[in-house]
Amino acid sequence: MRPALDSYTFVTSGKVREIYQIDSETLLMVASDRISAYDFVLSPEIPDKGRILTAMSFFWFDALGVPNHLAGGPDDERIPAELVGRSMVVHKLPMVPVECVARGYLTGSGLIDYNKTGAVCGVVLPSGLHEADKLPEPIFTPATKAEQGDHDENITVEQAAELVGADLADSLRTATLDIYGRGADLAAGRGIILADTKFEFGQAPDGSLVLADEVLTPDSSRYWDAASYSPGHVQPSFDKQIVRNWLTSAASGWDRSSDDPPPSLPADVVERTRARYIEAYELISKKSFADWPDHA
Ligand code: ATP
Ligand code: MG
Repeated sequence: MRPALDSYTFVTSGKVREIYQIDSETLLMVASDRISAYDFVLSPEIPDKGRILTAMSFFWFDALGVPNHLAGGPDDERIPAELVGRSMVVHKLPMVPVECVARGYLTGSGLIDYNKTGAVCGVVLPSGLHEADKLPEPIFTPATKAEQGDHDENITVEQAAELVGADLADSLRTATLDIYGRGADLAAGRGIILADTKFEFGQAPDGSLVLADEVLTPDSSRYWDAASYSPGHVQPSFDKQIVRNWLTSAASGWDRSSDDPPPSLPADVVERTRARYIEAYELISKKSFADWPDHA
């Protein structure tokens, strides 16, 4: 008999996930089907998105081959029946309070910082770079976690060192660039550019770093289609572009510059977006999503 969800203590809820405590050492991380764009959680949900992103995290944790927080497989008996496939049972760890971002390409807040200062998080870059350009080498650009609703704030490696100590900041940088490199290489061989990503690390009792949270999902990373990559302008998002295009089209009737929440997504946009997430999972993992566990 699998446990009922209400036998666990609810811990917190983010934009797309819910965390429960199984016992003092173990957490249940549940990925919902919620999707966010332009800082709004949209409606309706994208059916199966939580299972697809969970499948991706499990794939990556396995493929990356570095210590991680998983405490069981996708059908661990501690997962309530209705949440099988969208849940991870993980070791509860003391988390390092730095968001560990790796960037192989210049876009988003990295490009904004670069245009102002010629550097990203204190990493000086060559002049003359443009939107979506590939960087000479991947860079570590840490951030502090914002309060709910706010954006994470980019910091320099020196500021990260003030937060967690120079040795730990150095280990974070090394681990982040190493793991990003492994992920980006694997994705490149499968037609996807991992432009950038955010990792979160916890610490084992001996202080060593353990890869935690979700990993290399399209919610924590920018996925671009390698075949259509063309720097100089904003690249389409592999997973969210269908949604963004519709929201910013006349058809949606939504004014992004207003404070109004976006309108509900039409059924065909939902279905095409679902298919896109499945395509991303299957491309990267070379597995069939049809084989991924569903509620038991
Ligand atoms: P957002 O929706 O913007 O991501 P959020 O980060 O607050 O908001 P979640 O990502 O759903 O929401 O929350 C996951 C939380 O769990 C984060 O605070 C993360 O640091 C934490 N976490 C991840 N893995 C572990 C772990 N193994 N042990 C303890 N905490 C963890
Ligand atoms: Mg988070």
